[in-house]
Amino acid sequence: MTKHIFVTGGVVSSLGKGLTSASIGMLLESRGLSVRMQKLDPYINVDPGTMSPYQHGEVYVLDDGSETDLDLGHYERFTRSPLSRDSNWTTGQIYQRVIEKERHGGYLGQTVQVIPHITNEIKKCIMRLASPDVDVIITEIGGTVGDIESLPFLEAIRQFSQDVGKENCLYIHLTLVPFLKAARELKTKPTQHSVGQLRQIGIQPDIVVCRTEQKLSKEDCDKISLFCNVPSNCVIEEMDADFSIYEVPLALMNNKLDELIVQKLGLTKAGQSDLTSWQEILQRLRHPEHEITVAVVGKYAKHKDAYKSIYEALVHGGIANRTSVRVIRIQSEDVDREETRQLLKTVNGILLPGGFGERGVEGKIEAVQIARENNIPFFGICLGMQCAVIEFGRNILGLADANSTEFDKDSSDPVICLMDEQRSIVDMGGTMRLGSQPTTLVAGSKAAEAYGTTGIAERHRHRYEFNYQYRDQFVAGGLSIAGTSPDGKLVEVIELNSHPWFIAVQYHPEFKSQPTHPHPLFRGFVAAAVEKRYGSSAK
Ligand code: GLN
Repeated sequence: MTKHIFVTGGVVSSLGKGLTSASIGMLLESRGLSVRMQKLDPYINVDPGTMSPYQHGEVYVLDDGSETDLDLGHYERFTRSPLSRDSNWTTGQIYQRVIEKERHGGYLGQTVQVIPHITNEIKKCIMRLASPDVDVIITEIGGTVGDIESLPFLEAIRQFSQDVGKENCLYIHLTLVPFLKAARELKTKPTQHSVGQLRQIGIQPDIVVCRTEQKLSKEDCDKISLFCNVPSNCVIEEMDADFSIYEVPLALMNNKLDELIVQKLGLTKAGQSDLTSWQEILQRLRHPEHEITVAVVGKYAKHKDAYKSIYEALVHGGIANRTSVRVIRIQSEDVDREETRQLLKTVNGILLPGGFGERGVEGKIEAVQIARENNIPFFGICLGMQCAVIEFGRNILGLADANSTEFDKDSSDPVICLMDEQRSIVDMGGTMRLGSQPTTLVAGSKAAEAYGTTGIAERHRHRYEFNYQYRDQFVAGGLSIAGTSPDGKLVEVIELNSHPWFIAVQYHPEFKSQPTHPHPLFRGFVAAAVEKRYGSSAK
């Protein structure tokens, strides 16, 4: 029988529910259990693919091409749980399914209502991950308890324990215990209120995890225990992880959260945890041998979560090279300022992430030029690759008007153009070239050397491509095409042989990097940045 853990959040948003859920998943896996992770998001968009990163942070893409919440990135970085379309459900998707069924006559004669039809559909979606070989499903509920829009999800998980048995469900509530400077005290009242709200709708949490910047005293725990109706040992402290998010699982383990879960759910299969590889990661993070500075130049640089997976993949590249990676986030529109240009000339690596729309593109193109002319290791991703192609077209091939038709439909040199398969598409949601696609690398290229193979598969999310008609001209000018789709038609990787490390890719390598398995291109990029800073002796 698959057991279920539901993670809810209270008091404020951005508490790190995703990280906590991922850490729980990782701890249970380390005890030999088979875990599946999923997230239920209360917003009405069918998926976050149509939301601006300013609204919602990064859109995380899975192998199967689903565009999902960035918390799924944490799940993939922390656990081995295979993720698919079944791992992220939104209100939009749930209603879409119910309405489709209603139109097909699936509920003939009935009034279709939130309870039971929407809640039944939610429960069905949760159950899709259950199978005899899965020990635990961890379901994170997005939003904060008290939000109107999350009510159907909470009602569904309340009913769930009646359907599968109380002993098979565990409710974990994550709250904030703020420290009031003036009173020099931790305050438990918001937690009491938030648990009170949950209990009003019929959910009694089994465990309360308290996010806090100060240690909880015995009195604090006792108070929360008394008012929230949970035993004192079920009040778990989760202190801010100032140093690294990869400390969170170990901190939770030290506070015996995994042990408690194993006991409460009767997970008799669980063995002793083996966290050797995780401890090695932290050891490397704590004792780096080098430090480099990388500029990430993007139009959403101000939002801390807009390029979440890229920032994490850089940390992983650092782990592989025993290097601490300092990231400077640069707003691409600022590259027209002299001081920003000077700053870019001093960094050890420049990374250009993906993006959409014209704003900030000229700044990105200038950043490519600075990297190319100053031999600064350069890593372009998706739009970053497209900008590198435009820059090369303009400044090396002399095509002054080179551009992408995304930004200038009438460009006389559309070196980046809409993919053929995209021309007739009008809908915006879920219609890009998405998900894992095979790429064939050219033997002997820097990319093939980094991957150690010529056959790879990486995740995509784009509509535009390198214009086929310009290929010969670019190659003659010195750009090397280091990877294409297996039919040779789509350019996937470009390199500059005359430069120490200049690689740009049409796909998103950041989605497949894990702290335990740093992505080869991020490892290579950080290594090149180390060499740029310290010279080849640092290798
Ligand atoms: N806007 C570009 C395209 O659609 C790049 C997309 C991206 O960077 N993810 O092709």
